[in-house]
Amino acid sequence: MRLIADLHVHSKYSRATSRAMTLPVIAEWARIKGIDVVGTGDFTHPAHFAAIIDLLEPAEGGLYTLKEGKGEGPRFILTAEVSNIFSQGGRVRKMHSLLLAPSIEAVQKMNSALGRLGNIKSDGRPIFGFSAQDLLKIVLDASPEAMLIPAHAWTPWFSIFGSKSGFDSIDECFGDLAEHIRAIETGLSSNPEMNWRLSALDNITLISNSDAHSPSKLGREANVFDCAPSYNEITGIIRTKDAKRFLYTVEFYPEEGKYHYDGHRECGVLYSPEESKAADKVCPVCRKGLTVGVMSRVEELSDRPVGYKSPGAIPARQMVPLEEILSEAFEVGPASNKVQKEYRRLTTEAGSEFAILLDMDVAEIARLAGEKVALAVAKVRSGDIGITPGFDGEFGKIRIFGKAEEPRRTGPAQIRLF
Ligand SMILES: [Zn+2]
Ligand SMILES: [Zn+2]
Repeated sequence: MRLIADLHVHSKYSRATSRAMTLPVIAEWARIKGIDVVGTGDFTHPAHFAAIIDLLEPAEGGLYTLKEGKGEGPRFILTAEVSNIFSQGGRVRKMHSLLLAPSIEAVQKMNSALGRLGNIKSDGRPIFGFSAQDLLKIVLDASPEAMLIPAHAWTPWFSIFGSKSGFDSIDECFGDLAEHIRAIETGLSSNPEMNWRLSALDNITLISNSDAHSPSKLGREANVFDCAPSYNEITGIIRTKDAKRFLYTVEFYPEEGKYHYDGHRECGVLYSPEESKAADKVCPVCRKGLTVGVMSRVEELSDRPVGYKSPGAIPARQMVPLEEILSEAFEVGPASNKVQKEYRRLTTEAGSEFAILLDMDVAEIARLAGEKVALAVAKVRSGDIGITPGFDGEFGKIRIFGKAEEPRRTGPAQIRLF
């Protein structure tokens, strides 16, 4: 069966996360989005882990379901994210890792090991001073079936390949345990195509998740598998990069991510990788170093030209969230009443957001939502849209109708748009 899975979410116990991110609300929104398997998030946090035990019960194949859901509704997979800040090779490194666990027992083992080494209570995404390699040891000691997946692998801060405090390779980060790293999460600011330019990633599976901090952001990226709802099947597909059963990933347009291009937000400077190189990665306004985004970093580490298709690659489908599509079609803000009301009507009638974005044909969408929304979905599916790239923590901006906007800018430098 087709399963849509979003493996990276956060609970209300993580910093800067909505108070609404509880297991029942996550389940409710997974249903609205059309997500079949969703991460619990934050299993390292004692209060959230207590809620997992209290509110969930085992379903099939090592997955869980809400007790009050009577076996219906989305399945939960035990997940967490951990931050490691440590020194390695004479430099400070900062990275985030996504953890997947096969059972409550495995989580208990991990949590008691982690609880001895640092504070797991203060943040749903705990911070430790030991290395990512040591974290991997703890994860594998708890269960050989557990997985560590470097999270949003390219963001400048807090990622394995980040320009600020990352590594140049998986081997450099994980040493003799590197063979246990079978996948990376591409993150919102990069897409699989960009990652295909690194031959070092040919045997690594690229997964995509929302990293949602609020309910409506669930599923903005996701993985689509053809398998039974089962922890071992899902992780087996990820481990072996099984292109028969990993149908595709759902991707944000990477330009829309917060760190796609280089720049300095305070000074309104946005550069493509070439422009940034020409400026020696220095802000022309304040002379501080630019925040080097994902595109430049891929450029630095890649050994293949743009457009190269890696052998055994899993396909990807670029998407724009339905709220943004409606906002464009109606020419009002995504939080407006008009968009919110129509969002609820459409997802109810179609069954879910993914039913509209991924499955429905355009004529059917036109009948349900009108010609303009149908045209917008068609344009998003074919990539016929304008985008101002995100940079230095600022999200990119999508224009489905009309051209991309000139970004706000005070600097003297010329800025070239897509
Ligand atoms: Zn993270
Ligand atoms: Zn500046």
